[in-house]
Amino acid sequence: MTIAVFGSINMDVTAYMLRLPEPGETLHGAEYKLGLGGKGANQAVAARKLGSDVRFICRLGSDDFAKPAARELSSHGVDLGLVATDAQGATGLAIINVGQNGENYISLIGGSNLRMDGSDVARGRAALEQAKVLLVQLEVPLDAALKAGAIVRAHGGIVILDPAPAPEKGLPVNVLGQVDIITPNEKETALLLGWQPVTPEDAFKAAKELRAKGVGTAIVKLGARGLAVAAPGAEAIIPPFKVTAIDTVAAGDSFNGGLAHALERGMPILEAARFAAACGALSTTKKGAAAAAPTRTEVEAFLASA
Ligand code: ADP
Repeated sequence: MTIAVFGSINMDVTAYMLRLPEPGETLHGAEYKLGLGGKGANQAVAARKLGSDVRFICRLGSDDFAKPAARELSSHGVDLGLVATDAQGATGLAIINVGQNGENYISLIGGSNLRMDGSDVARGRAALEQAKVLLVQLEVPLDAALKAGAIVRAHGGIVILDPAPAPEKGLPVNVLGQVDIITPNEKETALLLGWQPVTPEDAFKAAKELRAKGVGTAIVKLGARGLAVAAPGAEAIIPPFKVTAIDTVAAGDSFNGGLAHALERGMPILEAARFAAACGALSTTKKGAAAAAPTRTEVEAFLASA
């Protein structure tokens, strides 16, 4: 049983500042960190750290950032067999400023991620055919991700779309019919439905509306306010876990990696969503993106004490 991920990989350069600079201002920061990021890589690492066998289909550039990105990916145990080097591209790069209260702004240069296409789907075909679960997000071209998804679905696998980052031009509602599970946060839900859920009850209503629009299972995430699930024969509001959050970067990615892992191991959807929520919550207690995802032992200990 495997999990396939078709998605982005970035290097994150994160500056930890006392406050965020204003336009035109130069400001000294406290320190910086160079780390693996990109929604595809974060979700691949999150599922791998939980113990899943992960096949990650992505593109690195041919610049100096490609090496540390590949090194960090393999340090987490993710196989590099389906990672391509794009001779004409630059490795995806996120320049992140974090202020003292955890607020951030991010400049993202997609680079080689934006050049993913049918050739990447062809390279990953065998892995896609064998995958029990496929994770896709919106940092690579959607048509390529959906092509990868079609192969997985044709072979009986489950496709989970994280519709993030929220696309500025909106999201065509017809994607809902092309995936099995969608996991929007409140803003992404607003793009799909035209209204933004605020309370857990709103999220529950939104999840049911998304199902009526054609997706099998909708999980609407409200960060620290919990989430709602609408699935065939199973619906629930899942309350949040209480943690002291210090860095919420990639909480959504830990959630989706956890969801894929739980479903791959055969957990029913509501139990899987709760497991995923524990992964998301735990990741906010550590700094970094991919590096902040919890291990299976950490999640089990956390669930046992919750
Ligand atoms: P996204 O990063 O996609 O916006 P969220 O911020 O909703 O996603 O985070 C994903 C999941 O991680 C949430 O649904 C929740 O389960 C968990 N999570 C995130 N932030 C917190 C928090 N401060 N406290 C508890 N759980 C959190």
